[in-house]
Amino acid sequence: MTETKLRDEIVRFAQSIFARGLTFGSSGNISVRTEDGWLMTPTGSSLGTLDPAQLSRLDVEGKLLSGDAPTKESFLHLAVYDKRPTSQAIVHLHSTYSVAASCLDGVDPENVLPPITAYYVMRVGKLPLIPYYPPGDKTLADAIGARATDHHAVLLANHGPVVAGNSLADAVYAIEELEETARLFLLLKDKPTRLLTGEQVDELRKRFGV
Ligand code: ZN
Repeated sequence: MTETKLRDEIVRFAQSIFARGLTFGSSGNISVRTEDGWLMTPTGSSLGTLDPAQLSRLDVEGKLLSGDAPTKESFLHLAVYDKRPTSQAIVHLHSTYSVAASCLDGVDPENVLPPITAYYVMRVGKLPLIPYYPPGDKTLADAIGARATDHHAVLLANHGPVVAGNSLADAVYAIEELEETARLFLLLKDKPTRLLTGEQVDELRKRFGV
């Protein structure tokens, strides 16, 4: 895909995410791998009103080549790409239900959300919880990197989800599935619930190679 098309795609998905209330104010950021680095959403920008020409273009080292300065959370994206050389895009949101799940006490830190639906298992799989770090704390990069090799989706405690994909569409659809599953999880929290069994989850993994 040409860089112009990638820029337009970032703006289009970002507008859709913002319009549906999946992130707020200037929160949330998106990055896409290019032939010689990355395109990223700029710091302080709203996903609802991005200008394709102002997106941050970074070289492979993460240095700004053109456009506005990148999101302050760019280090978090680069930490994931570093461990996932085949990932083409990353989306990070402060989406309400996922953030709510990231604040719950007593969840399994190896897998925060249970297998409620097949699509969650197929698009997200296991979701580890990364411990809380204050915004901008660079040690967060190490904590994310340590889980990123085995997981394309992680949940930052009291913060929000980070999801990588084989394309931008892939990453967006996965983070949306995560958000909807977190919502279902909270809706069902106090109700007796029939989750997918270990056997059903294994069968999905075999059948769909997840
Ligand atoms: Zn954030």
